[in-house]
Amino acid sequence: MEYVIALDQGTTSSRAVLFDAEGHLVAKAQREFPQIYPKPGWVEHDPKEILSSQMQALRAVLAESGTDISQVAAIGIANQRETVLVWDRYTGRPIYNAIVWQCRRTAEYCEKVKQHHEKFVYERTGLNIDAYFSASKLKWILDNVPFARERAEKGDLLFGTVDSYLIWHLTGGKVHATDYTNASRTMLFNIHTLQWDAELCRLFGIPMAMLPQVKPSGADYGKTRREILGESVQICAAVGDQQGALYGQLCFRPGDVKNTYGTGCFLLMNTGKKAVVSENGLITTLAASLGTPDYALEGSVFVGGAVVQWLRDGLGLIKAAPETEALAESVPDTGGVVLVPAFVGLGAPHWDSECRGMLSGITRGTTREHIVRAALESIAFQTFDMVNAMEQDLRIGIDRLCVDGGASTNNFLMQFQADILSAEVARPEISETTALGAAYLAGQYCGLYKDLDKKRESAKGMKVFRPRMSDAERTEKLRLWEEALQRTMYKYKIR
Ligand code: ADP
Repeated sequence: MEYVIALDQGTTSSRAVLFDAEGHLVAKAQREFPQIYPKPGWVEHDPKEILSSQMQALRAVLAESGTDISQVAAIGIANQRETVLVWDRYTGRPIYNAIVWQCRRTAEYCEKVKQHHEKFVYERTGLNIDAYFSASKLKWILDNVPFARERAEKGDLLFGTVDSYLIWHLTGGKVHATDYTNASRTMLFNIHTLQWDAELCRLFGIPMAMLPQVKPSGADYGKTRREILGESVQICAAVGDQQGALYGQLCFRPGDVKNTYGTGCFLLMNTGKKAVVSENGLITTLAASLGTPDYALEGSVFVGGAVVQWLRDGLGLIKAAPETEALAESVPDTGGVVLVPAFVGLGAPHWDSECRGMLSGITRGTTREHIVRAALESIAFQTFDMVNAMEQDLRIGIDRLCVDGGASTNNFLMQFQADILSAEVARPEISETTALGAAYLAGQYCGLYKDLDKKRESAKGMKVFRPRMSDAERTEKLRLWEEALQRTMYKYKIR
């Protein structure tokens, strides 16, 4: 028994990653699957595709690395969060496509619920009422699929996020379970009592019989059916992707914080056994563990690495994302140009869904390089605003940010982030932190990984960016950003 496999079921692809007994990445396989857009703003996945792409990736990683299933001690699952599936308890057949976290079909309904229940829902779940979370999507399925509500009330239907759905199928329908981190994103789970909340279920019209059992992220989730891989393997972890990344970054202690620079940015801080109430627009959620979960504060930026995609596809200023590093470094600064990429409004901590992006400070001397640099800087400034909100909520200073995700490979961006935060930015050797988190949890639960704290101290292969900007320069840059931000939001208000 030498390996752990992490299944990382993401929004656009399913991956399987093989880790050895030291937690080193040995092999990985990835299968993309189609996105379904039935109407503007609606996003679905075919549950069959989720399952088949995940199984293909799992088989491929074993075949390509020449690993025998008998050498795999455990499987851990990390998954796209909030996405909703409903299936028949007896046949396993889904009654509707998976409604994906990005789907806005219930936005109007959520606005209505918000008018009367915002405080109540926040106090129990730590979340702002939004179509993003699972509850309203589940209600939509029950209200719109013929006979769904009656069947759910009779106990014939099961609800699950993607982790539950995979576990149910992998175990041949034996286990219907989820973990605390996934449950905390449904808006039906009380993060203080750590139980499904009957009043929330009543508010959203959800029969409690369809909810999965909730377990710690590292726990016994049953065994895979023998027919799937020729031999049974223990499933020992389930975790939502962002909390998986937090764990994979070894952020186990209160105050540990990570930011993932993907299409958007996700900042999570472990706050230990204390559920922090945010006064600055962040949400409170559960973090992964092998027992009682820790709490975390979370903030997200809608447009992170996506601003680089816009430079490429929208403006045609670059051919590929990595070019931005050298272009940004070829000029000493942006020449006063500031880009606020509020393409779809602004997320945490500003929460302005109506404002739109702005490019300011353009002169006759402005070049492509300045605009590219301003785009990268905007990712760092938005992250600064979230970190700043966390620091205010907790009344502490953050001196180190752990980073991962596609855009964290950009050295210019990471150095600028360290400068603007006046804090260290630490990038681990393994970029697959989400899968690593699921593997750590599963490996710890089955006894393969004994001392993760030691790993934290050795931090092999970690690249650390240290701040080197003067306070005066930093203050000036932040002032320009703040000014542009205010104009972006103000312009809308006077229209
Ligand atoms: P997701 O999981 O959201 O699909 P990834 O973690 O794969 O995102 O990161 C992809 C994002 O990172 C894209 O938006 C891309 O523009 C950006 N990106 C990738 N490489 C770089 C780079 N070298 N510099 C800046 N941005 C990059």
